[in-house]
Amino acid sequence: MGLLRRLGVSSERETPYECMGCGATFRVRYQVCPECGGYTIERDDWG
Ligand SMILES: [Zn+2]
Repeated sequence: MGLLRRLGVSSERETPYECMGCGATFRVRYQVCPECGGYTIERDDWG
């Protein structure tokens, strides 16, 4: 679901971390997503 949004994001990312569970993005890395409680937060550093 985040693909279309990612395409519009330049290399300058304010929120490089993204929860794979709910799609929430963060500036800092969380051990647990504050939005959905998931553990699948990954850095979106490709490109
Ligand atoms: Zn989440």
